Amino acid sequence: MAQVILVLNSGSSSIKFTLFSDKNVQLSGQISGLGATPRLSLKSETSKIRIDRELASHEGTHAGALKALLPVLEQELAGRSVDAVGHRVVHGGVEHAAPVLLSDDVFVALKSLEPLAPLHQPHNLAGIAASREAFPEAKQIACFDTAFHRRHPWVNDTFALPRSLYDEGVRRYGFHGLSYEYICRYLRQTSPETYAGRVIVAHLGNGASMCAIRDGQSIGSTMGFTALDGLPMGTRCGQLDPGVVLYLLTTKGMSADAVSDLLYKNSGLKGLSGISQDMRTLTESTDPKAAEAIDYFVFRIRRELGAMASVLGGLDTVVFTGGIGENSALIREKVCDDQEWIGLSIDSMKNGAGEEDISGASSSIRVLVIPTNEEETIRRHAADLLREAFAT
Ligand code: ADP
Repeated sequence: MAQVILVLNSGSSSIKFTLFSDKNVQLSGQISGLGATPRLSLKSETSKIRIDRELASHEGTHAGALKALLPVLEQELAGRSVDAVGHRVVHGGVEHAAPVLLSDDVFVALKSLEPLAPLHQPHNLAGIAASREAFPEAKQIACFDTAFHRRHPWVNDTFALPRSLYDEGVRRYGFHGLSYEYICRYLRQTSPETYAGRVIVAHLGNGASMCAIRDGQSIGSTMGFTALDGLPMGTRCGQLDPGVVLYLLTTKGMSADAVSDLLYKNSGLKGLSGISQDMRTLTESTDPKAAEAIDYFVFRIRRELGAMASVLGGLDTVVFTGGIGENSALIREKVCDDQEWIGLSIDSMKNGAGEEDISGASSSIRVLVIPTNEEETIRRHAADLLREAFAT
């Protein structure tokens, strides 16, 4: 019988879910508006069910939302049960360089990492707790956004702080690993020589980071100890002189919570433009501040591109992915503009037409646009761990 794997991505205001029957998506959707007006929307690939309805307010918690989803899944599965639930977990700490079967001990260890990813980890764990209750018979599996980077070189794992801080876990973890893993696997399957080369992947979404990859291994990421570092994001500041934080705390007397809110929720594209965190809104705006926010976003990407190419000792391939990377021809064009010095150019017709390979005719660097699929990475890991669990 086909193996049933449910993939959950639990955030602060939504739970996104994908139900796989073996490798095929059977149903996908989300419960949005948690904590406010919860709403269930889904579509089934097999039974053509489509649902888009408001839920009751008591269903607006992670536990309530999964309870509301259960009867829909039962109808869809027609007597079969969920074999495993694969969870996206943003932070695996120093310990987890691979996905893991969730036990009480692992759950406690992951809870201790909440301060390192306050925007994501508590909600990821609330989803896990709700899922253990809703699917008590299923194996629960955690897949980490940090795991892909755990073997990156020491110089990219550390800050220049006293060694004792490194030893207690103040390290550069890097995130978006499930996306980078998907892209690497895709390259290995479609173009082994590209996979084996020097690749920079730009995952540009609401959260944004870049990763330098050689032979499928992370060499360096723009994100660091938390998912705040590196590129500016929808609402997060990206790279920042730590002196600014000291200034906010001491001279301005801001509380730690207020600084945290500022850096995580009110900076980035939203803070710079004063208009929106949403790239589509900014690209459609005629306000000069929107253009300036876009300029800063592009500037930081270009700067990292040059730095990463240097660290890799050259560059063979650039991949754009994530909501902005996949959909915004404008941002791709701005990033790749005037990069002939490094051997990189794009074909603007191909870029505008949404082709996968947008490299210019004379470009010695391949430029690709590849839609990411973190759910597929989680499904594959869950299937592997299920196989191992039943083999022992
Ligand atoms: P998340 O990090 O939440 O998964 P996504 O990868 O879905 O985010 O990316 C969301 C971002 O992608 C938003 O800023 C959105 O405006 C942007 N985006 C989506 N489509 C387009 C488009 N056609 N042009 C510009 N930006 C786009």
